[in-house]
Amino acid sequence: MADITPKIGAYISIAKTSLQAVFDNLKAAGFTLIGPTLGDSAIECAEITQTTDLPIGWTQVQEAGTYRLQRRSDQAYFGYAVGPHSWKRYLYPPTLKLYTVDHQNGGFTVTPATPATPQYAFIGVRPCDMHAIAIQDRVFLHNGFQETDYKARRQRAFILAVNCTEPGSTCFCASMGTGPQIETGFDLALTEIPEIFLLEIGSELGREMLTGVDWWHAGAFELQTARQALTAARSHMGRQLDISALPNLLYQNLEHPRWDQVANRCLSCANCTQVCPTCFCSDVKDVSDLQNQQAERVRVWDSCFNLDFSHVHGGNIRPTNRARYRQWLTHKLASWVDQFGTLGCVGCGRCITWCPASIDLTEEISAIREEGTR
Ligand code: SF4
Ligand code: SF4
Repeated sequence: MADITPKIGAYISIAKTSLQAVFDNLKAAGFTLIGPTLGDSAIECAEITQTTDLPIGWTQVQEAGTYRLQRRSDQAYFGYAVGPHSWKRYLYPPTLKLYTVDHQNGGFTVTPATPATPQYAFIGVRPCDMHAIAIQDRVFLHNGFQETDYKARRQRAFILAVNCTEPGSTCFCASMGTGPQIETGFDLALTEIPEIFLLEIGSELGREMLTGVDWWHAGAFELQTARQALTAARSHMGRQLDISALPNLLYQNLEHPRWDQVANRCLSCANCTQVCPTCFCSDVKDVSDLQNQQAERVRVWDSCFNLDFSHVHGGNIRPTNRARYRQWLTHKLASWVDQFGTLGCVGCGRCITWCPASIDLTEEISAIREEGTR
């Protein structure tokens, strides 16, 4: 171990086996580690405790409507692209109890839910997902109000980010300016190169989590190898999305015949919105017990593809697949800009991979661009 602690902004190298010591420091500091692991036929995010919980030696093959796990020929720790889960499910969980109502003494008692805020260390956050978290920060923290549960979880979260050196075939972060290199917002950022991890230190907490870890200052060869891997990744994106002329391209093509074509394929299953790391629509449900003695009010993820979502007094404002798909895509790539000053897509490709109808937003935009009003 070097005799001085590394500084914020420094690049250091560690042996791959030393990552366990970082995990141990995080656990000792009270963090619950959430990271990629082999799940039910996919690389999913779940609680992990050891580096051996990572999908070491595994990768995946992704295409529109397709995801398959595959063995690698090496023992890479992070040799895969994003899976179906994003960090949204930990910062903005799919189900959140808001309060309980108890029927007592002929009246009601309302008890707000006050769950302990989890302290998560997110292991393996990819650049696209770093941008997705930044977008959700704008939505939930910097948009004139603050979502208190999100804020508490976000403030306590530690981020160990991982640069992407092997993008998947549905990835298009390079087009969106959201990858494959991590820029900001992390505590530690890791690049996997043969035999070692290169680490960039992004915060004081990140620096503290290196206590007792064997490290050395990254050498010129190691830095160069990482740079080359990222340059290669940039040129090996599976897909591209031309974002020029957005959002006007969509606003000027609201009656384009392509919306009918995609509507004929779309199942309105809502998969795309559930896997998307930036989609944030929710509903509030009341659930009562069978004796009508207790009820809970629960926030749940919703989707603009659900028919009930756009049912307002007097009827449904988006009664067709065409209206719902158009709403989703124009929100992501047009009106999101008006609302939040950024596109709502980070190019992670999840909506393409997990669409059972193989609908690909990069193809849809390109078709509208080719045939529509520019
Ligand atoms: S675009 Fe695909 S994933 Fe999204 S609702 Fe339609 S069929 Fe489902
Ligand atoms: S719209 Fe699709 S590609 Fe874009 S961030 Fe959402 S899931 Fe990823």
